[in-house]
Amino acid sequence: MKKVVILGAGFAGLHIFYKIRHLIGKKIELTVVDSRKESLLKPSLPEVAFEGAPIKHSLVELEQTVTSRGATFVNEEVDAIDPDAKQLSFKNGESLEYDYLLITLGAVKNYDAIPGFRDYGYSVCDDTQAQRLWERVKNFEGGKIVTGAALSTWGSRVDAPPLKAPCEGPIGEIMFMLDHYLHHEKGLERAGDFKIDVFTPGEIFFEDVGDVPRNAVGKVMQERSIDLHNNKVLKEIGKDFIAFEDGTSMPCDLAIVIPPYTAPQVLLDSKLGDEKGFIPTDKTMRHLDYPEIFAAGDITALAQPKLGHVAIIQGAIAAATLLNELGEKVEIPPHKLEVFCIMNMGGHDATLILSDVLYGGHTDLAIHSPLAKMMKWGFDSYLYYNKGHMPPDFALDATDKLLKMMS
Ligand SMILES: Cc1cc2nc3c(=O)[nH]c(=O)nc-3n(C[C@H](O)[C@H](O)[C@H](O)COP(=O)(O)OP(=O)(O)OC[C@H]3O[C@@H](n4cnc5c(N)ncnc54)[C@H](O)[C@@H]3O)c2cc1C
Repeated sequence: MKKVVILGAGFAGLHIFYKIRHLIGKKIELTVVDSRKESLLKPSLPEVAFEGAPIKHSLVELEQTVTSRGATFVNEEVDAIDPDAKQLSFKNGESLEYDYLLITLGAVKNYDAIPGFRDYGYSVCDDTQAQRLWERVKNFEGGKIVTGAALSTWGSRVDAPPLKAPCEGPIGEIMFMLDHYLHHEKGLERAGDFKIDVFTPGEIFFEDVGDVPRNAVGKVMQERSIDLHNNKVLKEIGKDFIAFEDGTSMPCDLAIVIPPYTAPQVLLDSKLGDEKGFIPTDKTMRHLDYPEIFAAGDITALAQPKLGHVAIIQGAIAAATLLNELGEKVEIPPHKLEVFCIMNMGGHDATLILSDVLYGGHTDLAIHSPLAKMMKWGFDSYLYYNKGHMPPDFALDATDKLLKMMS
């Protein structure tokens, strides 16, 4: 029996878990490790921050999910990985050996890299921040709001688009959902009682998609009096201002930011990462230097942008590569990435975005419709009630084909 360890039970780790679980007790002893007790479904966090939705609908309990399917769950933080000894060490001093390791640790949202964030900044990127933001938003009586993503930087071992902001979709949800809440729920006047400004470190906003989604988003921003500021690299957040590296600043009563994405310390301390600690893999998701290690999701250097959809694509590839390694003959899907997300815009409003122009494709689609909102609700609910298990492949493929026919 081979010892297989999945390190990190987020989108990628859970997807791999469900893809390989049929071999538990037959060919593998499977251990899932996560420092959290519950996996966090981040796409539903904007509903927590701007609609006051209960956090429990964004959490998937891990112990029961994993052990009821015959695997072992270790609720510990990994603080060292020794790829030569094939061993992990935990913060509690214990260790675990593996034959195959799947690294799905996600990226760290590095709030502490932003001076002033802990005192004056807000975010939506985890359960603590999303609930803290809702407390602020529901008591907000008007003023200047500035939102945007900080600059992230990447290593150079693999060829991936070097996005300045690896996940700007949530900025779309922040500006539109907050605008909806303040205008429609609180009755405040746009560009009067409150004003929303958006910044991006990129030359263009939403640099991971083509003109169709970008123009669709721009049109709604114009209708809602939301202004955009390009090439703004976040430097500091103060009590009543937000400052940028080019020496400019804006008055700001509420700053909501996506912090820089960095690799977890355990990888920065190991020899497994690239210059920035992200895992370099080939397109079968195998580590470039260690053939018994695979990776998927935000932690991989190939994942650009850093999206749940990309984590799922890569998780399926990593699982198939491992299954072949274990003697199962399954097809390894191609590493064909695309941007797919549904941006909640408040009320019944949402835009579905599907685009592969970043990777040289021609699909570039934006569907702004209540139908998109229903799809988001259906997808988020499916994930929650099925313990992080994705809808079946045939349903996802059919949706993908239908959308591409519409583009
Ligand atoms: C607000 C927000 C909204 C988003 N909306 C969308 C969306 O609509 N669509 C979309 O496709 N994507 C969306 N994303 C992006 C998506 O959530 C991520 O790309 C996805 O979660 C990445 O999955 P992952 O498995 O790579 O990492 P994660 O989901 O971050 O999982 C990593 C896991 O590793 C664990 N871990 C980390 N370090 C350690 C350690 N040292 N020891 C043990 N365990 C550890 C963590 O606890 C975590 O459970 C959104 C992101 C945010 C922040």
